[in-house]
Amino acid sequence: MIFLKLNGLVLAKEKIKENDALIYILTKNYGILKCLGKSIFRISSKNLNLMETGNLNRFLILTNFSQFKIISALPIKTTGKIFKKNPYLFLWSLRLLSKLKFPETPRFIWFVSTHLENYLAQNPQSFPYWFLYHLLKERGYEIDLENCSDCNRKLKNFAFFNNRRGLYCFYCKKNNYQLIEKKDLERARQIKNVIKIPQNIPVFLKKIIKNSFTYDH
Ligand SMILES: [Zn+2]
Repeated sequence: MIFLKLNGLVLAKEKIKENDALIYILTKNYGILKCLGKSIFRISSKNLNLMETGNLNRFLILTNFSQFKIISALPIKTTGKIFKKNPYLFLWSLRLLSKLKFPETPRFIWFVSTHLENYLAQNPQSFPYWFLYHLLKERGYEIDLENCSDCNRKLKNFAFFNNRRGLYCFYCKKNNYQLIEKKDLERARQIKNVIKIPQNIPVFLKKIIKNSFTYDH
């Protein structure tokens, strides 16, 4: 058994037995760790507040790399005002992350999830789509907004949308495909920005994102 000292973001907790809990924490180097929190729910436990979803803590963990046990935790950042403003979105984002598996957490995802309050404050309406787009990208399923899904020709002045996941050029479109104009295509491409969440996301892109995303990814 060895001790690990690391920063971890609490994604979820499950009560097991009477006072114990399983706590899912997102870490930079080990992805998501499922840790045993002994006696967390005991009334005298000072750790219960620290294990609130969304809190960032400095953890001391005892492990043999198949099981992990929290020995202690110190707060770095606790969920604040924005959590109260956008609680559902906040919890949705963290719950979504807790279902994914990464050997280590991609830098972008680590940054966004430890600064969720800033991103949510920027634009709560566009955030979920922006976040899903980038999650897909990090997992190797980048949505192609540049090239035709069939022939790979570069899409320049307009595109056609099959109402599912693909954009097509003039030569590959079918009759019932929807025309996407240049300004909407350009507006859609703003979603690639990792710092700034776009004000408006075109409806066709929202559809592509929804259709592309399943928990299996
Ligand atoms: Zn084409």
